[in-house]
Amino acid sequence: MRKISQSGRFCAVCGTKEGPFLDNLCEKCFIKENPLDIQVQKKINVEICPLCLSIRIQAAVVDTWNKEESMETVMREIIERKILEKIYTDIDYDYEFEDDIEESKIMNYGVKEFELKTAISAKPYEEFSEFEQSHLTRIKIIRTSCDLCNKHKSGYFEAILQVRGENRKLSETEEENIEDIIDRMMLRYVDAKMSYIIDPETDADGFTCKVSTKYLAETLGREIKNATAGKMTVAYELKTKSRDGVDVYKNTYLVRLPEYSSGDILEFENKMWLVKQITEKQMKLEAFDNHEQKRFDRKRIENRGKKLTKSVVEREFLFVSSDGKSVVIMALDNYENFDDNLERLPLNKQVGENIIGFIYEDKNYYIA
Ligand SMILES: [Zn+2]
Ligand SMILES: [Zn+2]
Repeated sequence: MRKISQSGRFCAVCGTKEGPFLDNLCEKCFIKENPLDIQVQKKINVEICPLCLSIRIQAAVVDTWNKEESMETVMREIIERKILEKIYTDIDYDYEFEDDIEESKIMNYGVKEFELKTAISAKPYEEFSEFEQSHLTRIKIIRTSCDLCNKHKSGYFEAILQVRGENRKLSETEEENIEDIIDRMMLRYVDAKMSYIIDPETDADGFTCKVSTKYLAETLGREIKNATAGKMTVAYELKTKSRDGVDVYKNTYLVRLPEYSSGDILEFENKMWLVKQITEKQMKLEAFDNHEQKRFDRKRIENRGKKLTKSVVEREFLFVSSDGKSVVIMALDNYENFDDNLERLPLNKQVGENIIGFIYEDKNYYIA
């Protein structure tokens, strides 16, 4: 650093004898001739998407920001950060910002212009007082929908998600359950980019929708698979060739719900069973002859069991009397009484209570 000399001098420009001097100049004249070598960006363009509120500043997209903060605060922070990023200097300096950015004007239609003043102060020479400079930056805020929202609007999607039953239709409960899962999952992706579904539809075949990305389709599919003990497969469908000759695929993620669902009735190893629970590998069944529950390998049931849910006829009964071993039951459709074994009734049934069940090949069965 250049030395400041104190003695026997006068300013080469204004002639004052009042020091200190540097390069033969007094403080005032020196500052005039040697402004701080600090440049501040003069123009900044900010693009904001009115649909997803994503912000682009000088071509770079700002990472997701906290949408609970006011837009004014967010804008100010982003712009100030940008200005500081672009100041290159070796001098130590302080800064202060002042602007006329206004929340209510940011989202107005058309181009909005604001000004931001950066006051820089620095003290590069020990004997001289602070240098002060102020710089003006013009801010242009432009509302324009972003590339991702344009893709969304044009119906772009990379994958199809399908949910089907294995050799069966989905039950109403299952349909509702799947829609709930999708709704719940999509809430998590409200602020995420490129995360949307198009045309969700539940019809006789099951549930189908188009999904913005393969990643999201797989995430949704896996969630449904896990919640339903289903299986997921992916089909790669040739769509188009990209410019460099690479095949681009649109994937179909298919979740198949198990053949059996809880509440199904089946015959297996010459016994009648009620399905209580299904997991990826196992099934828990309840025997109609004594209401004991047992676990089986799921594959075994799927290969050898016979599903009878659609073949049975629902029937309602009244528990008339019991001697502790045998019971008298009345069918409520024809008021006929007949004997049965107590252990065939659901647990904890009391005399006088109604029982829900069914009749299959002339035999009565009791569910609850
Ligand atoms: Zn001077
Ligand atoms: Zn957008």
